[in-house]
Amino acid sequence: PPASTERSIAAAEAHSAHNYHPLPVVVASAQGAWMTDVEGRRYLDMLAGYSALNFGHGNSRLINAAKAQLDRVTLTSRAFHHDRFARFCSELAALCGKEMVLPMNTGAEAVETAVKTARKWGYRVKGVPDGKAKIIVADNNFHGRTTTIVSFSTDPEARADYGPYTPGFEIVPYGDLAALEAAIDEHTVAVLLEPIQGEAGVLVPPPGYLAGVRRLTAERNVLFIADEIQSGLGRTGRTFACEHEDVVPDVYVLGKALGGGVVPVSAVVASREVLGVFRPGEHGSTFGGNPLACAVALEVIAILRSGEFQERAAELGEHLHRELGLLATAGAVRAVRGRGLWAGVDIDPGLGTGREISERLMERGVLVKDTHGSTIRIAPPLVISKEDLDWGLSQLRAVLASS
Ligand code: PLP
Repeated sequence: PPASTERSIAAAEAHSAHNYHPLPVVVASAQGAWMTDVEGRRYLDMLAGYSALNFGHGNSRLINAAKAQLDRVTLTSRAFHHDRFARFCSELAALCGKEMVLPMNTGAEAVETAVKTARKWGYRVKGVPDGKAKIIVADNNFHGRTTTIVSFSTDPEARADYGPYTPGFEIVPYGDLAALEAAIDEHTVAVLLEPIQGEAGVLVPPPGYLAGVRRLTAERNVLFIADEIQSGLGRTGRTFACEHEDVVPDVYVLGKALGGGVVPVSAVVASREVLGVFRPGEHGSTFGGNPLACAVALEVIAILRSGEFQERAAELGEHLHRELGLLATAGAVRAVRGRGLWAGVDIDPGLGTGREISERLMERGVLVKDTHGSTIRIAPPLVISKEDLDWGLSQLRAVLASS
């Protein structure tokens, strides 16, 4: 890489904790589905900030909403009301077909909030004896990085050396309804799942699984918490990935694209029976539900209400999966999974690790992120044009052909 890229990376390496291993590109600006680095080279963004940038870089509606709010008021804390809050909560609840919202900032915070909600609901509504609440999760889950959340991770990298771990979770195989049914007991307050497992490599559960989880949890008076932080808000061709099986969970956990890639915004959304368990002082966040966050999220909600991006993700997604399917039959690709504009692609390990493939794609002007072994993830901003998507795929074909 040229000198200024190298200097920048060296300085970052010297003064930041090495908890990430970024590709060697230093981004300076971005618009739509494209990013430009400090040397002026352009790259097609096929990651979209892990789906936080569903509506594209520099989306004018979101940027204008943010700018207008910056001139009015940005933070009040929840010690006072502000004039964006009620609309944000009521419109987000309506988008989800629910009644109440508890706003936070990051995804992990929203998952923590869902865990606290489920436990409190268990004690105050379901009548579980104090300290006994159990939450069932899936193996290979990714719900964030806090100490409680990594306590129920099965990924040694995410979990090692962070103990002692939070008790109260049972892990079952993802996609296995019988195992889930067997794990539910009288102390179970919730089942927490990603409707499609993102970090695990875009794993889509077997048909009928989510509907089965819905049925079982309803029968056993257990909350179904869907972590739609990565799968939600348009990515799969629907507002929520659960919709593909006509499933409505009890609790939605949202983040990433809710802040439009502009500000961190997350939320737990549920019925009054569930989120009504909180009383003043029992949970909170200085920045949760702040005016700037609400202003941007309100615009995100308005964009989603039009259905335009869901439709785009469905149409372009069909094209993406058709093209990736052809690569799979050609042999360089072992498996392709996903839904909408979201794919996990297992490359023949003989052709390189996911990291090596990602680096070769970067050299050709395409940015993706690897996960576990030889898998790469494709999740471009939903604003990407068909031509750009095809160009990105042609770069992938070229990389696989020359590997
Ligand atoms: N849940 C899911 C499904 C995610 O994919 C992620 C992030 O990748 C998180 C939670 C955590 O979100 P954050 O990084 O904002 O804490």
